[in-house]
This record gives sequence, structure tokens and C-alpha cells, in this order.
Amino acid sequence: MKKHKPADSIQDIQYFGEYGGVNPSVADSSTFTYLAGKTMEEVFGGEREGCYLYSRHMNPSTAYLAEAISNMENTEAAQVAASGMGAITSVLLQICGAGDHIVSSRTIYGGTYAFMKNFLPKLNISTSFVKTTDLQAIEAAIIPATKLIYCETMSNPLLEIADIKAISGIAKKHNLKLVVDNTFTPLIFSPKEMGADVVVHSLTKFINGASDTVGGVICGDGAFIHQLIDVNDGASMLLGPTMDALRANGILKNLRTLHIRIKQHSKNAHYLAKKFYELGLDVFYPGLPNHPQHELMKASINEEFGFGGMLMIDAGDMERAYKLMEAMQNNNIGYLAVSLGFYKTLFSAPGASTSSEIPEEEQKEMGLSEGMVRISVGLDNDIERTFQKMKACMTETGIL
Ligand code: PLP
Repeated sequence: MKKHKPADSIQDIQYFGEYGGVNPSVADSSTFTYLAGKTMEEVFGGEREGCYLYSRHMNPSTAYLAEAISNMENTEAAQVAASGMGAITSVLLQICGAGDHIVSSRTIYGGTYAFMKNFLPKLNISTSFVKTTDLQAIEAAIIPATKLIYCETMSNPLLEIADIKAISGIAKKHNLKLVVDNTFTPLIFSPKEMGADVVVHSLTKFINGASDTVGGVICGDGAFIHQLIDVNDGASMLLGPTMDALRANGILKNLRTLHIRIKQHSKNAHYLAKKFYELGLDVFYPGLPNHPQHELMKASINEEFGFGGMLMIDAGDMERAYKLMEAMQNNNIGYLAVSLGFYKTLFSAPGASTSSEIPEEEQKEMGLSEGMVRISVGLDNDIERTFQKMKACMTETGIL
């Protein structure tokens, strides 16, 4: 079988705008006209497809973006959402109902964790959180009510790598859906090729890459995406996490340079990780041979895109972590801000920010300590210059 090439699949899309524009025209309309009342009735009744009706359901601009990302993930279809959380919550609520159960990785984005831990129990949906790298623990957590297994390809913020192929084997054996968040590693991992049933992304991060909007996407088979937009019981249709046409158009334009950006993010992060390691710092980066899943990742990625743009260092304690981040911002290395995938480096201390929803004790248990600094490495042209600046900040704040 020919190997799926995610960047080529985006490149090969050819859209024309109205009047022959090289960019598709923006369908800046919430509703669409019909020449005959009967046709509208047929569309509502699900007897006729391919007609736009109302933009919460479908819009040509969001459909272009959805198609491009489903090409990247090699799934039959996709549906975009107003945010990553809009995508994730729609998937979970579409698959699970009252009485159902989820087996989830315990190292996931704090918002997803909070939704499973605090919100879903209100609907009588429970979650068991397990160590994703422990396959036996995943299987042991499955009960008759389990409907899905959830994990991130590269976990936020610990950068653990999930063995998607093996987890997919467990999901198939128990007839469960495997839902994978690929936000940290677009193009690098192709989770569907490894057995995932549904792939979600926060488009807010690397895919858009401009830190100017939030967005999300759900990639899956045609039947599942159809269910999500069903007018009678589709979570994407009825909960209303709809992306605006103008935003969809902007993200589509940025998607076209994703392959170049990801290579540069990976190259820069790998460079810094090696240098920090040589300085004797506690550094977490899956491209380093000391990372526990280095070999697994090496064997399962689309190699040309590298090991990703995210790395973590342990500054020792919270005070030093804050001092380091403030010094790096003052020296214009990047911004002390949450999120990732921007052209400029972003850093935050996850224990007190993006993972603060996870109780302190659980953070400790999973290996997340208060001095950890998560760094989304930017597109810097001269990364040695950046390294020297970072090293000076580390010396100044007593980390080195
Ligand atoms: N998934 C991951 C891995 C994330 O890091 C985030 C946000 O930080 C989300 C999902 C949620 O995405 P959004 O902020 O676009 O709702």
C-alpha cells in the first residue's frame, strides 16, 4: 500500500475562487437560498445531499478547510469547530451517553481533563484516567460500559508518546472507538494510519500558527462526521461549536505553509534540547535518546517532520521557573504566554497554568513538578543565537 504523505495531500488540493481567484472565495453567509421549497424540504429530511442550508450545519468555507485537514489526516471526512474544546466535547458527547465510561490518558490538556473529570459526571458519564504508556493499565480499566479510549499522540505537557498502534489493538479487541488528539504533532504523526478512529486537533496551535484565532477539527469516517452534523441528534449541529467562514478561510491559507513551519519548529526544538542536555539541564524532548519513548516515536513518525516543536525543562522550583520565563521575555526570546505553535517562542509553567485543573497530588504522581517550564519553540532563523540568549538568562537566574 502506498504510504500516505500528509503534506502532499494538502498541496494537491486545487480550489478556485469566484472569478478564478487562486484562493477560494469566502462564503460570508449564514443562510443559503433555494429555488424550490421542495428542495429545502428534501435537504432537511436528509433525502438530498450536497446543498448548503445554514452555516451552523455546513458552509462552503468551513467545508474547504475540513476537506484539506481530512486530506492531511487521510480520513474520509472532517468537521471544523470554533475551538479545540468545541471539537473534543462534541466527539465525546456524540459517542457517550448516560451510563457510559471513558478510558483516558491521565496526561492530557487540562481543559479536556476538566471536562471529563468535572463536567461529564453531571451527565452520568465517568472516566478512568490511566498512564497511557502502560498498556496493561489501559486494558485493565476497560469495563462493560466503556465506549472509547482517549489519548494525545504527544501528551500535554509531559511530552509522553502514546503507542497508538498498540492502543488501537486494545480498542479493536474490546470494540471501542479510539479518539486521538494530534494537536502537538500535525504532519508528524498520522494517527488514523496507526489505527485511530477519530483524530481531533486544536487548530489554535501549530496548524493555524498565527496565534490570532481559536479553532478545532474532528477527522473521522464519513458516517461519524454525518452523525455529528445530523439535524436531529448531532453534537456539532446542536451544541453549536461552529467556526466562522472568515476564520476558516484564514486557517486554510496558513495550513499551506504548515510543512515548512513544522520542520523549522522541530529543527529548532531539537537543537535547543541537545544543547540544554549537554549543559546538564533536566530536559524532556522525545528527539533525545534519553526520552523513554524516543525509539517508539522514531519508528512511528513521518520522519521528515522531526520530533516536534515542544520541549520541557525543569528549572527546579516555581520561583526559578518564573524568574527564567520573565528574563526570557525581557530579553525578547519569546512570550510568557500559554498556547503553542506560534512563530515566536512561547513559554509557561504548566503546573500553575494549562494543567492547573489537574490536582497537585495527581500532577506529582504523573511526574509534573512545579519548576517545569513548557517551551513551544519558535521559527527563529538563527537558533544558536537564541540558545546563547537563553543560556545567559539561565545563568542570570541561577539555573546554570
Ligand atoms: N488539545 C490540546 C493538546 C491543547 O493543548 C489544547 C489547548 O491548549 C486543546 C486541545 C484545546 O484547544 P482550544 O484552546 O483551541 O479549545
